[in-house]
Amino acid sequence: MMSLCPNPNPSFLHLHHHRHRHRRRPFFVRSLDAAQSFDFESRAVDRLNAKSKLKIAVVGFGNYGQFLARTFAAQGHTLLAHSRSDHSAAAAAIGASFFRDPHDLCEQHPDVVLLSTSILSAADVLNTLPLGRLRRSTLFADVLSVKEFPRNLLLSALPPDFDILCTHPMFGPESARHGWAGLPFVFDKVRIGESEERISRCNRFLEIFEKEGCRMVEMSCAEHDHKTAESQFLTHTIGRILAKLGPEDVDIGTKGYQTLLELVQNTCNDSFDLYNGLFMYNKNATELLDRLDFAFTELKKELFGNLHDILRKQLFENPEESNEYIARHNLLVGKCDWVQACQTEVT
Ligand code: NAP
Repeated sequence: MMSLCPNPNPSFLHLHHHRHRHRRRPFFVRSLDAAQSFDFESRAVDRLNAKSKLKIAVVGFGNYGQFLARTFAAQGHTLLAHSRSDHSAAAAAIGASFFRDPHDLCEQHPDVVLLSTSILSAADVLNTLPLGRLRRSTLFADVLSVKEFPRNLLLSALPPDFDILCTHPMFGPESARHGWAGLPFVFDKVRIGESEERISRCNRFLEIFEKEGCRMVEMSCAEHDHKTAESQFLTHTIGRILAKLGPEDVDIGTKGYQTLLELVQNTCNDSFDLYNGLFMYNKNATELLDRLDFAFTELKKELFGNLHDILRKQLFENPEESNEYIARHNLLVGKCDWVQACQTEVT
């Protein structure tokens, strides 16, 4: 304990001296000694903690910005916020300072500026920030759900002295309502200066997610977009297609059906802007839509192909009954090319 103290103060030397003079009263000396070192240690721990804390400015303080900010605040970081709308009440509720004017925000000299706006508005929002008012070395991070777009945007818009960390926490307020443990956090250190201070600042930001138990996945922005078109965009698309069918909760729904209802809820709770951004700013999304279209057509072909074979046989063997069946079936499936083809074949 004593060796922790590099410069013992005079009062400590006095106590030390006391210890030798009053060897028979060790209890008295030990208690004072304990108080002294506890005080020193706790102050050292406080200093260490303060050093690891960041001043984070969340730009885009909507649904997701607030969701992240709650955890940043709980970990003791200093929070600043700025948004198009006035979210000052929500900011106050989590102990963040809200700045309506981006100049005021930047004059606070945050260590990290975290871009959490919609994908569609990111470029416009970035343009409104007076970058010259920030410290010359500032870390810019983003949490947009696509990655190549903000990477290129930040590289072209920010001065070369700024660090850039592109991230995508692959979870949201719905999927992470029970905590972040085990959920993937994708990041790409696009441009981090070589100085110890810059490396440490970036690592301290990443540690926020590590501390919550996220599964940290380092990958390039391009690889992220390739993989998420397949997983994320597909999930959101299916959720939104199902929502258009208006599925209802039924008391005897199977587990599979319940999963579909949850999917609708999970995806449709996010804004349409978010979904639209996934489509507009991920070049792999269009191809995915085409493949989805093709897969659906193939599946229908398979079903109607079977139906075609059965009807064809019946039409030859028992035309009257088959026509009745067709009429009934047409009611169910609407105009069906395969049925019409069968009828043409027979007539
Ligand atoms: P969002 O609809 O994608 O974005 C809402 C935010 O964008 C709000 O802060 C809003 O500001 C701002 N905004 C929208 N249009 C704007 C405009 N024209 N000018 C200025 N600001 C504008 O919904 P979100 O769920 O909060 O997502 C925020 C970001 O996090 C997105 O980039 C999204 O891809 C990413 N993300 C979301 C999730 C999720 O589960 N929700 C998960 C991972 C990543 P005001 O509120 O001030 O109007």
